[in-house]
Amino acid sequence: MFDPVTDAFIGGHWMSGPTRFAVTNPANGVVIAEVANLGPVQTVEAIDAAEKALPAWSALTAKARSAILMRWNALILENTEALAELMTAEQGKPLHEARGEVAYGAAFIEWFAEEAKRSYGHTIPTTASSKRMMSIKQPVGICAAITPWNFPIAMITRKVGPALAAGCTVVVKPSEETPLCALALARLAEIAGVPAGVLNIVTGTDAAAIGQVLCDDPRVRKLSFTGSTEVGKILYRQCAGTVKKLSLELGGNAPFIVFDDADLDAAVAGALASKYRNAGQTCVCANRMLVQSGIYDAFAERLAQEVGAFAVGSGSDPDTVIGPLINDEAVNKVEGLVNGALEMGAKALTGGARHDAGAQFFTPTVLIDVTPQMEIFSQEIFGPVAPLFRFETEAEAIALANGTPYGLASYFYSQNVNRCWRVGEALEFGMVGINEGLFSTEVAPFGGWKESGLGREGASEGLSEYLETKYLCFGGVQ
Ligand code: ADP
Repeated sequence: MFDPVTDAFIGGHWMSGPTRFAVTNPANGVVIAEVANLGPVQTVEAIDAAEKALPAWSALTAKARSAILMRWNALILENTEALAELMTAEQGKPLHEARGEVAYGAAFIEWFAEEAKRSYGHTIPTTASSKRMMSIKQPVGICAAITPWNFPIAMITRKVGPALAAGCTVVVKPSEETPLCALALARLAEIAGVPAGVLNIVTGTDAAAIGQVLCDDPRVRKLSFTGSTEVGKILYRQCAGTVKKLSLELGGNAPFIVFDDADLDAAVAGALASKYRNAGQTCVCANRMLVQSGIYDAFAERLAQEVGAFAVGSGSDPDTVIGPLINDEAVNKVEGLVNGALEMGAKALTGGARHDAGAQFFTPTVLIDVTPQMEIFSQEIFGPVAPLFRFETEAEAIALANGTPYGLASYFYSQNVNRCWRVGEALEFGMVGINEGLFSTEVAPFGGWKESGLGREGASEGLSEYLETKYLCFGGVQ
């Protein structure tokens, strides 16, 4: 593992901060580092640094910025093993998943470094013979990014990659649970030649105070946030005062629908991948398994067989499939939802309680006979628990699936091509996996409908979030 970088990074300087805070390994509670604990004063300094760096960075050609970003991408990939070990230590996910995230995270930098060279405007057929019209794309300016702990690298690179490629400068406030990956990324950016002040990392435990400064400062023109819907709504309100551009990637309540005409093997494999990756702690994790009555028992039995065989333990053990949850609060929440369902008549085919691997472990669980009246239907579980709801008709499945204020990910399995089109179009979600449990990639637009958020990350949509359109009208043409 790296000797972790533990100081914050502002204006090209590493800052030890007025106090420090502990980062612990969720697998065993051991303190792995003491990190700089910054507050509002240093957040303003970070915005100052981003402001100072903006003119020169935005004036570079996209190709020149791209060259620097490509070096950063290469350095991240060269350090895959060390970054993965660091991630497993502070976040808990199994090492093989952490390696996957490093590659996934780097891919956003590579892709946007390429894509920003193609941020074309338009020439517009004129409406007056004396005028000529065109539109150009320019960087938004100083951006703020507030990121969560579940993907400590990728949630940063999919904001910072397009922002830097577009010519913006950034202040990142990573999760207090996982600041070490953010700081390691910044160290590699520094080595790659990202100029001082272009990327700033403010680590700290007073997220509300840091967030308030980022939202209130009129120099910050855009905020991109990934996290809970609750905090997203606070930030949405706080950004109204300065009318910032906003990207919000918030909570989900993903339906995973298995129709009677599904390929059972494929549906089970998709459910395992979508539900149990990162111990169920992703915002696109299947949250409600809606299973048609003709295939319900067979699906439940096969799923429980596979889930019951999962190896649970520290992410650093190469055999581990399910690591710890991020903190006590997370385990309490999962336990409460499972107990609530069991008390109302659900049954655990496997799991159903905490795991003796340690305080923050929950046994991978499959619940049957779950009904929409139970709290687990409407809450984001964020743990390794699959609740199976039974339905009879396609219309019922669609109504159940859409019966949530959230609209991030959805999945369904069917081998009927007509049904695939119908259901794919009927689901009110930003992303639909059709006979597929894993769809996240830098080349496709990731984001939610309804209360799951605003904007998209990845793809050309993800770049446009960091670009303003300017219309130029040339008059007096003879
Ligand atoms: P999660 O449940 O995934 O931890 P949160 O929404 O609580 O989701 O946290 C996501 C990010 O938002 C973290 O970086 C956290 O520190 C930050 N955060 C939490 N509360 C606030 C707030 N009031 N203002 C700004 N940022 C916040």
